[in-house]
Amino acid sequence: MFIYLHVPFCLSRCVYCDFYVVLDKYGGHEAYVDAVCREIDLRFASINVADFPQGIQTLYVGGGTPSLLDAAAYRRIFKKLNEYLPFAGQAEITLEANPGARRSEMVDSPKAYRECGFNRVSVGVQTLNNNELKKLSRLHSAEEAEEFIRGLQRAGWANISLDLMYGIPLQTEASWQETLQRAIALNVQHISMYGLKVEENTPLETLTTLPLAKGSYPLPEEEAVVDMYFTGLSTLAQAGFCRYEFSNLAQPGFESRHNLNYWNNGEFLALGVAAHGYWQGQRYETVPDLQRYLNNPLAGITQACPTREQLENAIIFGLRKAEGIDTSALERAFGIDFRQRYGAVLDRYAGKALIWEGHRLRLEESAIPLSNSILAEFLGDD
Ligand code: SF4
Repeated sequence: MFIYLHVPFCLSRCVYCDFYVVLDKYGGHEAYVDAVCREIDLRFASINVADFPQGIQTLYVGGGTPSLLDAAAYRRIFKKLNEYLPFAGQAEITLEANPGARRSEMVDSPKAYRECGFNRVSVGVQTLNNNELKKLSRLHSAEEAEEFIRGLQRAGWANISLDLMYGIPLQTEASWQETLQRAIALNVQHISMYGLKVEENTPLETLTTLPLAKGSYPLPEEEAVVDMYFTGLSTLAQAGFCRYEFSNLAQPGFESRHNLNYWNNGEFLALGVAAHGYWQGQRYETVPDLQRYLNNPLAGITQACPTREQLENAIIFGLRKAEGIDTSALERAFGIDFRQRYGAVLDRYAGKALIWEGHRLRLEESAIPLSNSILAEFLGDD
């Protein structure tokens, strides 16, 4: 079984963030852990655990800033989960951590989290340039992020992922190169690099569009952002990182098994407020409102995922992976003739943006910046 747990607490809201976030100063950790434990009881009441003989294969705790909860909170949650299913022997158990949460136990005693069961940490670094960090309103400096990661390594963490961002206001090719080199020097095992998206109704949207503010928030040109993406891929490749998905690169053997399950369109249970799950053929979202979640942890929206949508998701998520999709497996699973069903899009792109390797189909790396329009052609194409 694959499980995602959402923890919404953050010390402050970053200007670019459109996630559901609860400011940590209002407290509520204990009530939240109580509600998560209740949700586990409620969800497992309708799960036949015998269907999961491998136990819990991955658990990913994302947020928010999950490292604001102390290790004891996670001991309680893990104990509750283990009343139903044990962790698999090689389970991947990831905690998202934020170097800006300076007064958290994760900074003072990172070993405590390893001792309670976590074996992978994903650190929201974003950039190692202090001016860019300020534009993102992050609470940490580049040096603090580096020191945080060295502290994790001293405490024995040996599977560390960094989140980096390109396309940040003020960022240049040279500053991005410097961030990449400093990230490489940290000797981590995994790097995710995402293009900054200016989301609607965020302070960053205002700051990058209002005439008075936008001069201070110059976004790199679109072409420069595409160049930054490819600079990231080549620089990290030279340092031994292999791209296994559009935005994710790992040292061999350190690919995120939890995220690979998403891209393989596998089902996963989601727990916590504002969490998105895919379970028993249905997609669901728990309510993005802490008080309502505390009152009823099962509150939310559930939508059936019809077969056609499952097939489209399997293609669109699968083509994000460097290895692409196994079209024979899709033919068996969905009873289709892949080449016939997607003849039009294959005629347009095969041998160019889409590459056949036996019965596998993958997206050519140079076509990734155009992926939205190419992948959209698999939607509703009979
Ligand atoms: S730390 Fe992450 S989740 Fe929290 S406000 Fe910043 S971007 Fe959003």
